[in-house]
Amino acid sequence: MLIAKFEDGTLCYANQYTSAELQEIRRQHQFYCPSCAAKVTLRVGASKIAHFAHQNKCTSGNEGETSEHLAGKLFLFGYCQRQGWTCALEAFLPKLQQRPDILVTLPQVKIALEFQCSPISIKQLYKRTEMYRQNGYQVYWLLGRRYHDLRHWSAKKRAFLRYSKQAGFHLFLLEAVQKRLWLVHHVRQYGVPIKVSYQRQRFLDNSFVVTNHRPPANAVVIEAQTIYKQLYRGAPNVQGLQATCYLAGHHLAGAPWACHSTWPTPPVHRESAFNLRVRLLLFCEKKVELTDVQVTSFCRQHKPCFFELPLLTKTQRNYWQQQVVRLLLAEFSQFGFLKRTIFGWQICCLPIWYPDYFSKLKMLKRLE
Ligand SMILES: [Zn+2]
Repeated sequence: MLIAKFEDGTLCYANQYTSAELQEIRRQHQFYCPSCAAKVTLRVGASKIAHFAHQNKCTSGNEGETSEHLAGKLFLFGYCQRQGWTCALEAFLPKLQQRPDILVTLPQVKIALEFQCSPISIKQLYKRTEMYRQNGYQVYWLLGRRYHDLRHWSAKKRAFLRYSKQAGFHLFLLEAVQKRLWLVHHVRQYGVPIKVSYQRQRFLDNSFVVTNHRPPANAVVIEAQTIYKQLYRGAPNVQGLQATCYLAGHHLAGAPWACHSTWPTPPVHRESAFNLRVRLLLFCEKKVELTDVQVTSFCRQHKPCFFELPLLTKTQRNYWQQQVVRLLLAEFSQFGFLKRTIFGWQICCLPIWYPDYFSKLKMLKRLE
């Protein structure tokens, strides 16, 4: 941390002095943690930003800090100050038992900025976000280096996704040393295995935008082939679904072509859109209509198919799960399988399943 208390309870800001001054202050004073009141040590070195460290673990759950975290906090604090915002570094909020890295107080809103460099469990992220929310704070999580590789989108990284109308699904990355803040926005996904597309924009100065990922022209055929190979290998991600198909008298490798699409979907589902389409078709079988209530119950039954997104409200989470299903149903209705009614969808005629992958391929060749 960058702040500790002197013996008399006033605050000492490590960032406001030179190394020489700090060494002098250190000779004359003792320092205490503003949260847990334990004695802390002032560390002044050549390589790392001057900071205070606990001798033992902080009882208020404050962890050991990396140079990255210290540098990021200082950058954010400086940025907020330059905007003329009322802001505090490491302000301890006793009621919440939390100490946001930066607390910004604007006339209408209190904002907590958290620079997350270390791993955090989804449960913990959910708990801390809820705590801020319930106490009237908005919280923004800015992600450190550990989260910067955008080729990989683990459940833990996705847990930081937020949603807004302007930016779609998005998250923030902070390069502390380079002093660059990125907005990764309009995050979407497609394909098997799931690939993520996004746009990236340098925040604060809006300097440039990069879009990446575009599915190849024959993506649908590649996808069908991938499923076939996965089944052949006995890959765990298709085994369960194959068992479900088998019970319904189908083979997953022979799933209708309409289950494949390169159309991107919101990044909220853990299982591929292909899997969800298959599950939806099975759900529709032996039904004459699909009401909105049934769509809700489909989502509830298939909870493990979706990511936990702790930064969304419960309402938003349910909305987006259902929205994905509605998008897929809308695709089906374009093929004429379903028809939209006031209460949901009327099931017209569902697509045929092929006995196996090779019959499925043959059908495509015949169409060409
Ligand atoms: Zn402490």
